[in-house]
Amino acid sequence: MDHGHPVRLGVRLELDADPAHLVERARLAERLGLDLVAVREPTSSRAPDGQAPGVTRAVAPRLGAGPGEPASSTEEQRAPLDTWTVLSWVASSTESVTLLALGLDLGSRPAPVLGRAAASLDRLSDGRLEIGLGTPDEEGLLAEAVEAVRGILEAGGPEPLDLDGEHLLLRGAQRGPAPAHEIPLWLDLPAAPEESRDPARADDISAPGRVELVGTHADGVVLRQDTRRVASLDRAARAAGRAPHEVQRLLELTGRAPGSPEELAEELTRLALEDGVSTFLLPDSVELQIFAEQVVPRVRARVAAARERSGVVVGVPVPARVRVRRRPGIDYDAVPAGVPAVEPGAARFAELRNTYLRGGDPGLVLVPRSTEELAAALAFAREQEVPLGVRSGGHGVSGRSTNDGGVVVDLSRFDSVEVLDPATRLVRVGAGARWAQVAAALAPHELAITSGDSGGVGVGGLATAGGIGWYARKHGLTIDRVRAVDVVLADGTALRASPSEHPELFWGMRGAGGNLAVATSFDIEAHAGGPLGFAQLVLDASRVARFLERWGEAVETASRDVTSFLLMGRPRPGEPPVAQVMVAVDSPHPETVIAHLEPFARIAPLLDQAVRIAPYRGIIVPPSGPHRGEGEPVSRSSLVAHMSGPVARAAEQVVTSGAAFFFQVRAVGGAVADVPAEATAYAHRGARFSLIGIGASRARLDPAWDELHAHAEGLYLSFETDPRPERLHDAFPRATLARLRAVKERYDPGNLFRDNFPVVR
Ligand SMILES: Cc1cc2nc3c(=O)[nH]c(=O)nc-3n(C[C@H](O)[C@H](O)[C@H](O)COP(=O)(O)OP(=O)(O)OC[C@H]3O[C@@H](n4cnc5c(N)ncnc54)[C@H](O)[C@@H]3O)c2cc1C
Repeated sequence: MDHGHPVRLGVRLELDADPAHLVERARLAERLGLDLVAVREPTSSRAPDGQAPGVTRAVAPRLGAGPGEPASSTEEQRAPLDTWTVLSWVASSTESVTLLALGLDLGSRPAPVLGRAAASLDRLSDGRLEIGLGTPDEEGLLAEAVEAVRGILEAGGPEPLDLDGEHLLLRGAQRGPAPAHEIPLWLDLPAAPEESRDPARADDISAPGRVELVGTHADGVVLRQDTRRVASLDRAARAAGRAPHEVQRLLELTGRAPGSPEELAEELTRLALEDGVSTFLLPDSVELQIFAEQVVPRVRARVAAARERSGVVVGVPVPARVRVRRRPGIDYDAVPAGVPAVEPGAARFAELRNTYLRGGDPGLVLVPRSTEELAAALAFAREQEVPLGVRSGGHGVSGRSTNDGGVVVDLSRFDSVEVLDPATRLVRVGAGARWAQVAAALAPHELAITSGDSGGVGVGGLATAGGIGWYARKHGLTIDRVRAVDVVLADGTALRASPSEHPELFWGMRGAGGNLAVATSFDIEAHAGGPLGFAQLVLDASRVARFLERWGEAVETASRDVTSFLLMGRPRPGEPPVAQVMVAVDSPHPETVIAHLEPFARIAPLLDQAVRIAPYRGIIVPPSGPHRGEGEPVSRSSLVAHMSGPVARAAEQVVTSGAAFFFQVRAVGGAVADVPAEATAYAHRGARFSLIGIGASRARLDPAWDELHAHAEGLYLSFETDPRPERLHDAFPRATLARLRAVKERYDPGNLFRDNFPVVR
């Protein structure tokens, strides 16, 4: 009968207790190492086992009655607190304990509302929520409510959500938000009536439909008082085509518990091993300290020992609805225990499957939270015969941090930003942070890190490749300010790369890091980050080539305080080409900013303008919502020394032919060019401009871009998607590539990391 579910022990708090006491008990339960705290919602109708709503029977006298012993039915009743409000408060007052809301009343909280509230609280509590539905008068409503709640929780499911039930009607309901984890759904199974002593006949006497419903739909069953019905539950699960272990069992003790801690431990152990109960909820009157210190360890140890002897494997069952969507080539049973894993059938999958530009359908997304978990995730990935994608912010253009049927290691939990030393401006930034978050965290310290132009881009992808941003000419590339990188290698080794530790790896991590290791954090020397001037000028670019040349001259003659990007789209039919010129001026003074803008405004007739003095964080716009995999574009990159006549004329062809729907030039030069070519794996330090063309098809973009690229010194790998072999040599000059391959041979000899411009093909 033991299904091997992890044993969990917790306490059920009473909603009619004193609020301060209630929260204190929850905190105490967490401090004492209990696994969960639960509340049961009083129902408007009678509770399933015949109790009056909100009234708990006398419990566990010999374990001691805690200070918050619930009011007995003879005492004056306090109106209960609202379940959801209490749970939210408890969630914010605790950090790790699981939160369980039982018996949620479908009368006062319609199923779609409940689904949304549950997903939200699960997000806010970092995946700690579990919910149990109450017992409506209409049995059929419960089945429909389960469907509705699950439908809302399945954030990425087909839109809209329609449900044409006998009791529930949903038309075009919006799914989501996605919960932080697969929220287990518990259903109550009423205790068999006292007169039914024969377990085999219990279902004939009371609620046979409920047993079937639980066996068919629930992730877990709440057994109240006794476990006489577990055998029929197993039969119901099998009849519904499920394995019995897919339904976890929770025993809610409301009656008198066995007297001494030893007796209680003995009884709970028996229930775990013989009746397959894995979660135990004690009433609030239990003396928590005695329970936690004298009962819990004994139960855990005895169950573990018995399982060891009998060879029962411990694990949480994966629901059938998730299992059916598993992909071949991935050993799902070998996923390292404890590493959060999101499978295609899971609610969170929708927001993890895609990247900003690419639609994906990976077979598994692992979301490690620590270096150890990352090492375990990589060890697992190494053994799978499917592609591996490493993702930080999911804005990869060249790197495909999603895939089809492969594994993705998502570093979004490595997202801390910490000022290590204000005097030296040393900042430690997690690889999974986004640049908007970094800018916001550093703003109060009047610091900034030169990054890119988009706040949604991740630290990991950008700070391992280059990082051409609004401070490029003044402070260089992002990689130029990296002082050390913490990484996990393909073999799981965690190490630090810096000028004095693994210097060759440190060199390669700055320009081609995606090929070598997974960065978890970067120590970066920030720079002053006061308000700066930011202008968006729209200029007439009818004579495209001439315009580009003049813009290039304005950039090269500007002071290093000035960095400018230029953007052109496909000209609209019948309209002259226009260019959007963005200029960042590192000065808070309007007169200085205006003076620096004048050469740009004089390039061509000015059609529109917007200028502001803003903090850096105000320019780096935060990302909005999960990635939707927009576009699947093709992209080309060229690094050129100057916007010379030949370059400008070839660029004009790209723009006016419509081969690229997005053509951008970014100023590099300045501080970027101060760094010797051999200092980092980004070697093209002589280039003053980075050109990017994005189009819908390779057949259209490549011919036009190849003409332009003939004038280039090289390319910036972040924006290149051309698979032809010569592109690798454009990204890395001969000496750089040879050195990179040597570093690769040493640190990733098995070529695990190859999703972003592979140096070994
Ligand atoms: C809208 C947009 C704006 C951009 N703006 C700029 C810009 O202004 N300046 C600029 O320089 N670039 C810019 N880029 C390009 C961007 O820097 C790269 O695409 C970068 O790789 C994205 O990083 P990410 O972490 O978001 O991407 P992800 O998709 O998460 O990763 C991309 C690749 O980087 C590698 N990688 C990711 N995380 C790690 C890690 N922790 N350790 C090792 N390797 C890792 C992987 O190989 C992965 O495939 C922009 C891209 C987009 C889509």
